[in-house]
Amino acid sequence: PDRHLPAPAAKAAVQAADRAHVFHSWSAQGLIDPLPVAGAEGSYFWDYDGNRFLDFSSQLVNTNIGHQHPKVVAAIQEQAARMCTLAPGFAVDVRAEAARLIAGRTPGDLDKVFFTNGGAEAVEHAVRMARVHTGRPKVMSAYRSYHGATAAAINLTGDPRRWASDTASAGVVRFWGPHLYRSHFHAATEAEECERALAHLEETVLFEGPQSVAAIVLETIVGTAGVLVPPPGYLAGVRDICDRHGIVFVLDEVMSGFGRTGTWFAADLFDVTPDLLTFAKGVNSGYVPLGGVAISAAVAATFDRRPYPGGLTYSGHPLACASAVATINAMAEEGIVENAARIGETVLGPGLRALAERHPSVGEVRGTGVFWALDLVRDRETREPLVPYNATGADNQPMADFAAACKRQGLWPFVNMNRTHAVPPCTVTEAEAKEGLAALDEALHVADAHTAAGARTAAGGGAASDGG
Ligand code: PLP
Repeated sequence: PDRHLPAPAAKAAVQAADRAHVFHSWSAQGLIDPLPVAGAEGSYFWDYDGNRFLDFSSQLVNTNIGHQHPKVVAAIQEQAARMCTLAPGFAVDVRAEAARLIAGRTPGDLDKVFFTNGGAEAVEHAVRMARVHTGRPKVMSAYRSYHGATAAAINLTGDPRRWASDTASAGVVRFWGPHLYRSHFHAATEAEECERALAHLEETVLFEGPQSVAAIVLETIVGTAGVLVPPPGYLAGVRDICDRHGIVFVLDEVMSGFGRTGTWFAADLFDVTPDLLTFAKGVNSGYVPLGGVAISAAVAATFDRRPYPGGLTYSGHPLACASAVATINAMAEEGIVENAARIGETVLGPGLRALAERHPSVGEVRGTGVFWALDLVRDRETREPLVPYNATGADNQPMADFAAACKRQGLWPFVNMNRTHAVPPCTVTEAEAKEGLAALDEALHVADAHTAAGARTAAGGGAASDGG
C-alpha cells in the first residue's frame, strides 16, 4: 500500500480510539476534533483523505529540520539497534557528543549541559540551579511569555490564560518587557521603550530587594506570546542589571534556539551571554523528547563539590541524544541555519510586509529568520486586536474563520489569540515560503472582513471575499 495514503478505514479507527482514550493538552476534551494525520515529510504533513498541508507552524515550532530528515531517522534507528537506554550516571558516547556539540554552539562559557525531556523541565532546573547558586528565593519573569506547563515553569509564564491556580506562584515576580506596538510604557520609539523597560525592571528589582532575587528569566525573543523581538540594548541592559545585583540571567531559548532566528541562538543576534540557557524543540526537532540547560562556568562551579539536587531517569536519553547529534550535524552540513536567515531576509520578511500593505487586518509584522508574527487588528488606528484577549466561542470566530481559510488553502497555521505566526521549518525552500505567503494572502481576506476597513467595504457594496 501507498504509505502516504493508508486505507480510509484506518482513519475512523484512529479517530475513535483518540476520542475515547487520548486526553489532549490545553483543551476542553468534548469540544475538540483532532485531525488524524497519516504521514509527514519535509515541510508537509497530510491527512487520511489526501489533503496535504504546508506546515507553517513547524508543529509547536519545533520541527526546525522538517519532518523525517533521513539522517536523523537513520541515527535514531542505529542507536536503537545499539543501545536504547542507559541511566544518566553513565558516560555514553552519544550523550557526551550531544553535550559537546551543544556547548560548542551556545554563547560564551556555557560549556556544561544538563539534559531534560523537554522545555518546561529545562526551565525548572535552570530555576533550581539559580536558587541553589545564589541562595536566594525569588525568580523574575516577564508578562507576555511562555516557559512551559510544569509547576515552576507555568508560574513563570507571563500569561494568565495558562495559570492553573493563583496560589502556586510564590517566589515569582513578574514585570513588563518591551513591546513597542502594544507598549506598557507609552513609549514612542524603540529607544524610549527600551530605556523605560529597563528602568521599570531595575525599579522592580530594587523594590523586591536584590538580595532576594535569584534569577531573571526571559525568552530571548518572546515566542508563543507574539514573536517580540527586543529593541537593541535591552538584553545588554538586563545583563548589566543582573551583574550589578548578583542575579543569575536565564535566557529561555526553547523556541528561539537552534536556527529559528537564522542564527544558532537568538542570543547571537544581540551579542549577549546569559548564565544559563534553556533549550529543547529545535535541538533535535522533537524527533525524540529532549531539552536541557547550558550552564556557565560560574554556576557549574557551585556544583563541583556539592551535589546538584536534581535528576531525571531519562536525562540524556541515548535515543534523544543520538537524534540531537544527527540534527546538529545535519544543520551544519546542509547550511540549514543560513537557509533560515536567507529565507527570512529575502522571502518571508518582505513577503509578510507586502501582505500588511494589502490587508487592513494586519496591524504589525515582526520577526526574523523563520520566526514571524502577524498581529491582526480590527482597526489599524486604534490597534484593537481582531479578537479580545482569551476569546472563546463566538468572540473568537474571526480567528477561527481565518485558521479555517488557511487550511482550505493547504496551509497549517500557528494561531494564538489575535496573531498568526509564520514559523515554517528552517529547511523551508523559497518555493514553499512563497506558497505559504500566497495561502496567507487568500486567508487574510477573511480577517479583513472583520476589520473596520472591511466593514466599510461591505457597507459600500464591495464584496468581502471569504478567501476560500
Ligand atoms: N519555553 C519556551 C520559550 C517555550 O516556547 C516552550 C514551549 O513552547 C517551553 C518553554 C516549554 O517546553 P515544553 O513544552 O517542551 O515543556
